[in-house]
Amino acid sequence: MSELHDECGVFGIFKSDKSTDIVEETYLALYALQHRGQIGAGIAVNDGGNIKYYKGFGMIPEALPEKELLRLGNGKMALGHVKYSSGEAVDHENLAPLVMRYMKGQLALCMNGALTNYHMLRDELNQGAAIFQSNGDTEIIAYLIARARIDTGSIEDAVDKAVGKLRGAYALVIMSPEKMIGVRDKMGIRPLCIGKLGESYVIASESCVFDSLGGDFIRDVEPGEMVVIDENGLHSYKNRCGGETHLCLFEYVYFSRPDTVLDGVSVAKARQRAGRLLARQHPVDADFVCGVPDCGIESAIGYSIESDIRYATGLIKNMYIGRAFNNRKRNSEYLMRIKLNALKHNVDGKRVIVIDDSILKGRTSKHIVDLLRKAGAKEVHMRIASPMFRNPCYLTSDTTPKEDLIASDMSAEEICRYIGADTLGFLSVESLPEIAKECRLGFCDACFTGNYPLDVSDTSRTDKYSQKIQIDPEV
Ligand code: SF4
Repeated sequence: MSELHDECGVFGIFKSDKSTDIVEETYLALYALQHRGQIGAGIAVNDGGNIKYYKGFGMIPEALPEKELLRLGNGKMALGHVKYSSGEAVDHENLAPLVMRYMKGQLALCMNGALTNYHMLRDELNQGAAIFQSNGDTEIIAYLIARARIDTGSIEDAVDKAVGKLRGAYALVIMSPEKMIGVRDKMGIRPLCIGKLGESYVIASESCVFDSLGGDFIRDVEPGEMVVIDENGLHSYKNRCGGETHLCLFEYVYFSRPDTVLDGVSVAKARQRAGRLLARQHPVDADFVCGVPDCGIESAIGYSIESDIRYATGLIKNMYIGRAFNNRKRNSEYLMRIKLNALKHNVDGKRVIVIDDSILKGRTSKHIVDLLRKAGAKEVHMRIASPMFRNPCYLTSDTTPKEDLIASDMSAEEICRYIGADTLGFLSVESLPEIAKECRLGFCDACFTGNYPLDVSDTSRTDKYSQKIQIDPEV
């Protein structure tokens, strides 16, 4: 149960089949992506160039009430987005899709990721008297596209020109009056894939969406690729492909759903492998192995298979958390009490190995060890299915500062004492790429190694732009 918050999730559908209800399909797709963001969600529908949208705070049923969805009608295309808070302040203007009017009509955009040259681009646009409604990356991209459209002949040329100015990690889905466009960053840090639902093309952050909709996975968008979907089908532009690739390894550890296949590797399989490697690297005698729901479960199964120690449930997750989980007025201890319980019947009097995906601040791990001890565990051995998380990630929605990362200044032994476990073991950094060894891409592992694949010196969001916007998740 990582303390790093989820990514955002993006989705787009271009209807080729009259019977498809695109609002319903987008709503279902966002449910499948809910794990990537619970702060808010939005849907935009394009009916002949007229874009209607609705976005709201909370989990899907709360954020997108039925009566508002009915108002969206039906159309040719739709975009959907689930949001976790980026470095941006959380107000309604920062929810997506972002819908704007410009010289060529309406445009809708949504994004997963973070720009590493946000300040530079925003300063540049401010010099040109740009007026911003939000402090998000998406609005910067919208401005760049609108400006590029002045002297380019098509929306795809304008998007390509705008993307040439971006640095960072991003997966974009854009809807113009007649086309849907998907773009993946040059290094492939953030995932994006293409599927089909009958004759209709769909684009999504994760392949699990296509299974949820009853559709088919076609392929991943290549790093640097732009795909354009229109009445004539799907067109691929690879001007920006080539060069080093760095898919986020934390997608396999935590961000993605286990039933997703990411650039050729099943997330569930990667997590099971991490568990097997952990069992070899940090063996210990115990009565059973359990996983911290959700992301520790597959790794616990892997650990159990490799060690031949039986797997059993040790922790139960409350599935009905809803918006309380996202209410920042509550402290994290309070939220953890809502979220997890130990299964006393299994745990009492036992030596327990508990597997989690990662440790960031350490408070969740401390709480878990405490829960297991209170439920009667004789010994608690914590194993972490990733290496020590020592460096902030500037390429996702959540940049936990270095001073808050427990591994930035504590050894594994010190962390073990802090969380109160009998023993603690992390997956080694060297073995981490092994978990997804069939992947076609190279990896980013900067949160574990400090080796960022690109310059991140322009990334802090505690800046002059975000301070002007009131943070109020209750709006
Ligand atoms: S720093 Fe870590 S979480 Fe961020 S993109 Fe790289 S691997 Fe992913």
